Amino acid sequence: MKALSIIFNEQENFDDSCLEIFTFIKSLDKKNIEITNLSFGGDKKYISKLPVNKNFYVELSEDNTNQIDILKTIENFLDDNIYDFIIFQKDDFSNYIAPIISYKKNYAYIPDVKQTYSNSLENIKFIRPVHGESAEGIYSVKKNNPIILKIRKNSFEKEFLIPIEKDITELLLDIDKNKSFTIIETFKTKPEGLQLDEAEIVVSGGRGIGGKEGFENIKNLAALLNAAVGASRAAVEAEWIEPGNLVGLTGKWISPNLYLTFGISGASQHLAGCSNSKNIVSINTDPDASIFKYSKFGIVEDCNKFIIDLIEEIKKTS
Ligand SMILES: Cc1cc2nc3c(=O)[nH]c(=O)nc-3n(C[C@H](O)[C@H](O)[C@H](O)COP(=O)(O)OP(=O)(O)OC[C@H]3O[C@@H](n4cnc5c(N)ncnc54)[C@H](O)[C@@H]3O)c2cc1C
Repeated sequence: MKALSIIFNEQENFDDSCLEIFTFIKSLDKKNIEITNLSFGGDKKYISKLPVNKNFYVELSEDNTNQIDILKTIENFLDDNIYDFIIFQKDDFSNYIAPIISYKKNYAYIPDVKQTYSNSLENIKFIRPVHGESAEGIYSVKKNNPIILKIRKNSFEKEFLIPIEKDITELLLDIDKNKSFTIIETFKTKPEGLQLDEAEIVVSGGRGIGGKEGFENIKNLAALLNAAVGASRAAVEAEWIEPGNLVGLTGKWISPNLYLTFGISGASQHLAGCSNSKNIVSINTDPDASIFKYSKFGIVEDCNKFIIDLIEEIKKTS
């Protein structure tokens, strides 16, 4: 079996969440497996220690990081190489690139895979959430064509890096000369403080917190707990908080140990981004709010009052 992992890394630091891909690949076939990796950007020292048989690397810089050229490079790479499985991890680049490759190459595509089981390589089943997390779909695909899979972060254990640095083959980014646009400048927005996908604890606010000032308490609590700040779309659309803090279908997909929600109803689009959290604790005045169905603990209370009491209690203990 031949598998290709495709990893994007815009930061200089090595994001070790990509190591989940290799645990996933090994779960497909433990014995007879050849893994090739194609990395875009990231720290070469770490990439050279990935547990793979062949390792390709494309340098990314501030000037050349655009999805069209990355797409072109992957397309050209796949023209010369055939794999049984092509595996991406869910991130902004993959969300854009994986479905286009699937369409152009006519390969099957299963996004958001969070579990897999098989009794043979011919009979692998992939599980992904559907209908905004309200159900699970089980997929099997005829294995006469490559399959593109996009796996969810924090769904698999991380494989270990190998102890030595192995050779990497460097490739150049294929510049698509027929691009119908030119990128003049890129501005990246990044929420203040701990990032949503790095945090063990996330504190989120929704429409129920009632206004921009409510987020001051959310931020204070997050600072006390060393947590990231999240928000529902209602709060983002009301401009109480930056879009970079959005959790959900159109925002960040998170899986912290603890997810605290204040005044969030639990719409399916919000749950799509947070239902992988290990523990959800919610504060809402409506005892029938659907977020309570997914919460380990639910508190029926005015969230603005509760958060002040909670902050006071935490301050007493610290
Ligand atoms: C295509 C599409 C994509 C979407 N993507 C996202 C997404 O990525 N993320 C997302 O969040 N949403 C998304 N939405 C919007 C989503 O459907 C909901 O509208 C949104 O999540 C609601 O946000 P909310 O829970 O803050 O507000 P509401 O649904 O209005 O809920 C507010 C809650 O606060 C409670 N409340 C009120 N006052 C208090 C109080 N004083 N104390 C405690 N509780 C109180 C209420 O009982 C209620 O349950 C998307 C929608 C669409 C159509």
